[in-house]
Amino acid sequence: APGDILSASSGVLPPIPDNLTIPQFQLDHTEPTRPHRDAGIPYLVDDATGKGIGFAEARERTQALANAFSSLYKIGNDDVVLIFSRNHVDYPFALWAVHRLGGVISPANPDYSRGELEFQLRATKASLIITYPDALDTATAAAKAYGLPLDRIVVFSVAGMSTGNFVTIDTLVKRGSGLKKAPEFKLKPGEAKTKVALLSFSSGTTGTPKAVAIPHFAVIANILQLAAHSKINTNYVDWKDQRYRPGDRALAVLPFYHIYGLVVNLHFLLYCGMSIVVVPKFHFEAMLKSIVRHRITHLMLVPPQAVLLCKHPVVKNYDLSGVRYIMIGAAPLSDEVNQQMFALFPDAQIGQGYGMTETSTVISIWPIESKRGISGSAGQLIPGVVARILKPDGTLGKVGEVGEVTFKAPSNALRYYNNEKATKETFIDGWVRTGDEGTITADGLLYITDRIKEIMKVRGFQVAPAELEGALLDHADVSDACVVGIPDDYSGEVPLAFIVLSADAAARVASDLNRLEPIRAGIIKHIADQKIAYKHLAGGVEFVESIPKTPSGKLLRRFLRDKAKEIKRPA
Ligand code: AMP
Repeated sequence: APGDILSASSGVLPPIPDNLTIPQFQLDHTEPTRPHRDAGIPYLVDDATGKGIGFAEARERTQALANAFSSLYKIGNDDVVLIFSRNHVDYPFALWAVHRLGGVISPANPDYSRGELEFQLRATKASLIITYPDALDTATAAAKAYGLPLDRIVVFSVAGMSTGNFVTIDTLVKRGSGLKKAPEFKLKPGEAKTKVALLSFSSGTTGTPKAVAIPHFAVIANILQLAAHSKINTNYVDWKDQRYRPGDRALAVLPFYHIYGLVVNLHFLLYCGMSIVVVPKFHFEAMLKSIVRHRITHLMLVPPQAVLLCKHPVVKNYDLSGVRYIMIGAAPLSDEVNQQMFALFPDAQIGQGYGMTETSTVISIWPIESKRGISGSAGQLIPGVVARILKPDGTLGKVGEVGEVTFKAPSNALRYYNNEKATKETFIDGWVRTGDEGTITADGLLYITDRIKEIMKVRGFQVAPAELEGALLDHADVSDACVVGIPDDYSGEVPLAFIVLSADAAARVASDLNRLEPIRAGIIKHIADQKIAYKHLAGGVEFVESIPKTPSGKLLRRFLRDKAKEIKRPA
């Protein structure tokens, strides 16, 4: 159609199976084009202990868990299970076990507050929580508030960490392997396109976080698109230059509760025949040690982790020469950091990936023909992606013109779950509106020039201004609020709140100016008490007379974003 920009990648996308669930594709299906995995190559490796789990054991653990979830917890078709956990070697097995029963997984950040978890439990109507030992208190509090019996909480087993009286995943594997085999949930041809596998959260272009309904097909498609882009060949021609080789070892510091960690770092690299070393919680120096200890070849990172690699003095104490591939994505990467990464890893392939939850991850990745990403570009559209540029005047842009980028891809999600209004704004006739401003060159290179949508990306995590504004309006001293992101060298950006004081607070300040600072501190604490750390008002609080709005009451966020740029931040 006029205005469509097709992927310029030369990779050829094979037919994508539309009758398979994710575990059937990952564990049961072998086709000649699939990278070969030697039986001796571990599938997953626990970072702390170095203990590996092979492919056969992965299948067995998945099946045992499916048996246990089915017979002991009555998990079946369309039941939602919320995984509220750090990365764990059993994470994918628990996830696939639920999928084997036709259930749906909703992943959540284990550092969420009780309120944030309760919100996700309600939005997804989850009937089982799988959690990590250090998240049990929050899981328990949220389950109580939501009305889920506490025997509907199970916990991953971690050496040296207490799991209280809760049933552990290890116990369920043991019990499940003695139970009769749970009937496998099967899809008819075409059904994988509409059968929901994941409810992952994203705020989209506006408003508060929403569950994105991601079908099995979308995840499988993204794996095959990435494989097609990288021209993985199983003849092992040019073997040494392959980006992803069976037997390579990737570190999973990216969290599996985010789509980038889940689909790319975990599912795609496993498909490639690689071993994934699973890290429960990112810690910079521990990561360096793990790279050396496990002879890591592949890293998938977010920009702040690249910033640390470039700037942190301890880096020189570690031999990182075994790393031969680094993908950086989830937020804009400055050219300065990009160049420093090239210098730090002179032999590695390094570049950006771009994607979003609504496209069940990758849309573009640096060109397969080049070892290094192209300066400023978010990469080359991967096979199967078609783009359109929506110009501000509503017409479609040509190659090289700037506008909102929209994509049609086999990995596109279906909709926002239970939210028709937001769905209509973002998912339009098979296209996803990104809320990102950009342009695409004749070579199919994507450049993201700005973000039009409201969300901030703090250390790669989405922060929805509307969520923080809602919380701020609950504070007695606040009569109006607008939250914007301000640039930050490490985090990318951090939230700053413009606040209009309530009449009462304004009167208190008018009679004694010294009262302003305690009010500011109180507002900052109000958010810190309720929200996960990356949502805190690290950009500070600014008091204003009024929040500029359109006659219809819509916040003029851009105006305040510009104003924020003029504010000098405390060092
Ligand atoms: P999420 O759904 O959390 O993955 O967030 C997706 C959003 O992250 C995109 O719409 C972009 O705004 C941003 N993003 C992801 N990758 C990049 C990139 N390479 N460059 C710039 N922004 C990015």
